[in-house]
Amino acid sequence: MPAAPAYCDVSLPVPLDQPFTYALPETLRHRVQIGCRMIVPFGTRKLTGVVLRIHDDPPSGGVREALRLLDEEPVLGDDLLKLGRWVAAYYCAPLGETLRAMTPLAGDIRRGKIFSLTKSGREVARQLHLAASGEDDPATEILRLLDARPLSASYLTQKVPHSAALLRSLEKKGLVEAEDVAAERDPLRASSARLRVEFLGKRADEGSAGKLPKQERELLSYLELHPGSHNLATLDETIAKASPAARALARRGLVRLALEPVGGAAARFRPPHTLNPHQLLAFTAIRTALEARRFQTFLLEGVTGSGKTEVYLKAIETALALGRGALLLVPEIGLTPAVAAQFQQRFAGQVAILHSAFHDSERAQEWRRIRSGEASVVVATRSGVFAPVRNLGLIIVDEEHDQSYKQQETPRYQGRDVAIVRARDAHAAIVLGSATPSLESRHNAETGKYIRLELPERIERRPMPQVELVDMRQEFLETRKYNTFSRALIDAVTARLENGEQSMLLLNRRGFSSFVACRACGHRMECVNCSVTMTYHRRDRRLLCHYCNYSERVPERCPKCDSDHVQFLGVGSERLEDELHGLFPKARVARLDRDTVSGKHDYETILSGFREGAYDILAGTQMIAKGHDIPNVTLVGIVNADGGLGLPDFRAGERTFQLLTQAAGRAGRGETPGIVVIQTISPEHYAIRCAAAQDYEAFYAQEIEFRRQLRYPPFTSLANVLVRGRHEEEALRKSAALGRSVQPAPEGVRVLGPAIAPVARLKNEYRYQMLLKASSRKRLTEVLTKIRDFAAAEKWNPTSLVIDVDPVTLL
Ligand code: ADP
Ligand code: ZN
Ligand code: ZN
Repeated sequence: MPAAPAYCDVSLPVPLDQPFTYALPETLRHRVQIGCRMIVPFGTRKLTGVVLRIHDDPPSGGVREALRLLDEEPVLGDDLLKLGRWVAAYYCAPLGETLRAMTPLAGDIRRGKIFSLTKSGREVARQLHLAASGEDDPATEILRLLDARPLSASYLTQKVPHSAALLRSLEKKGLVEAEDVAAERDPLRASSARLRVEFLGKRADEGSAGKLPKQERELLSYLELHPGSHNLATLDETIAKASPAARALARRGLVRLALEPVGGAAARFRPPHTLNPHQLLAFTAIRTALEARRFQTFLLEGVTGSGKTEVYLKAIETALALGRGALLLVPEIGLTPAVAAQFQQRFAGQVAILHSAFHDSERAQEWRRIRSGEASVVVATRSGVFAPVRNLGLIIVDEEHDQSYKQQETPRYQGRDVAIVRARDAHAAIVLGSATPSLESRHNAETGKYIRLELPERIERRPMPQVELVDMRQEFLETRKYNTFSRALIDAVTARLENGEQSMLLLNRRGFSSFVACRACGHRMECVNCSVTMTYHRRDRRLLCHYCNYSERVPERCPKCDSDHVQFLGVGSERLEDELHGLFPKARVARLDRDTVSGKHDYETILSGFREGAYDILAGTQMIAKGHDIPNVTLVGIVNADGGLGLPDFRAGERTFQLLTQAAGRAGRGETPGIVVIQTISPEHYAIRCAAAQDYEAFYAQEIEFRRQLRYPPFTSLANVLVRGRHEEEALRKSAALGRSVQPAPEGVRVLGPAIAPVARLKNEYRYQMLLKASSRKRLTEVLTKIRDFAAAEKWNPTSLVIDVDPVTLL
């Protein structure tokens, strides 16, 4: 046997951008491989890193020994390591932190416990919500966190001090229950909420001999009468002792227990459609590239309701038939159980779902299925772009314009763009789908870099919804009142209620009142940590900062002038719901926003309730605008179309257009045509006019001209460089020094600023920013490298410099 190498270089998740060399203990020398994770000492800590090189070159100084190898096989293959290097270089992020973001496997190192609330725990949590008071004590904090979703012990330890002892006592009180991660392997050990039970068609007398206990008999006959699989916790609500009975029956082999599929919700059965001519044309182009094993980017531009999903499904089928894997990326909020179920139904056991809302062990379980090749279709949110799909042949990025593809922490990558690079390296076909493509993608289609595929009409030639613009200035002149709802919108809702049709109402602002001010002196209540106004949330009777989550009681008197004229201004979605109850007392109203949705299940509960007709009106923030296909919705009302237009951001127009068009696209998807009412105070703005006309072409033509003239993407490469610090003077001084260090700017690069950032103070830090516009990507990277080197040479704390390449927002 040849002498095994003695050292390895490990990339660690630290801001220092270099690998570190460790000695390999004898026991590891023959086992370690490039791409495996390794635990090593670093200062006084132990860190997990990824092995990049194995060699025999002794380092010059002293060297410490690696501690433990976590994987027998690489978690990152050569292709993903290469992709990681590209991401780190392009987005100016340390490689170690990038690689860590690519391996979502924390959960399988520590095989800890997962905690969730019991029924009485949920009740207690609910009461705590109502009585929200000052600082939470740690036990309350735990209940609140668990109310959102089950969490691992290790996660809770990070969040809450002394959580282990507290969890033990909460468990004793019957408020929380623990479950071993090992439950992944033995369903009988999972909690009821995560289990499904199914009748196997065997009567008791065919199975084990003897008479069954009463509870088991009852459950069995219930299951016989109600075919299909049932969630255990749900059954517990109708049948006494259903859970223990089901477990006992499973041991007897009379029923099957299985883990709730990740993604939940049973599939609505939908047979495959025969593609219409437009769909067929698009699909054929994709199939041709797949068969040729050729890298090609397609932009699938299809109006809302044109049947893009069916094209995706057919393309995935083709990839599988060719023996290749497929990856479908969807926006954060787009990955509902209903969407997951659609794919699970079509591709059965081959689908894996990766969602950031899942806990570590669920993700690890899915990740392993992908890596082993058991799952060859992956449906995932942003970070799924790094999923180890075998023999990848097809990537689809649905709603490619969606902002959630951009990660807002290091590494600040754009998932869609990383997907294109990955497809290129894998000789795969990639499809970017949208009704409202980003300006970048559409421009690339224009220059021939992408192939444009069009679905210009809705399925079965259903008409696009008719849009009415209501000028709220005129409305005020005529009614002399600042009403939330125009007369036109009220009439439209009334008509829907009379016909038994459904309405969706969008107000892209959560909370009850968007700000609180003093009428005597004009003082606005601002967050203590951020330079932004706080929003009033009536449910909690508190003011809340939407940037840092700081909250406080509503002051009875103005903190500045002591007057008691404290006034609530601006309408948020919470108040919208309230007004709807007042205007339409008989209507059943549901609300969907970040405050009503605490976990993935609530989101689906509200949506599926609405889909099944339990509500007449769904009110909410942009959450309601995304992708939902609910045939009985014939009215979409947009309460305040101007909300985003005033923001100091070059994408304000694009975002407004996308939001309005997507929201409008929810109307009239079934057999009854739909209408849209848009309330605005700037009906002449092109983003609003074009959205009202559902005219992407007109919008694109105008917006691209604006970008060209002001030299914004896609005509320049853009980066936002932010300097932040606890002390204003320090942040100012640093940003000024950084500004000087890049002057004179190299040819082809323009430096704007440094200047005070639009949110001047955030989470207690002062912020200054500098915008770089470069004529070429290479130039931009050069300047950014200089900036990083400058900060390193000056020994800046790594968190004080944020580089955002291709930013989606400048706020
Ligand atoms: P989009 O994502 O483009 O907005 P969807 O993919 O949600 O549209 O499709 C809209 C509806 O049309 C869905 O209910 C889908 O089942 C249906 N559909 C798709 N393709 C066809 C087809 N070829 N024939 C009939 N119905 C179809
Ligand atoms: Zn005052
Ligand atoms: Zn704040």
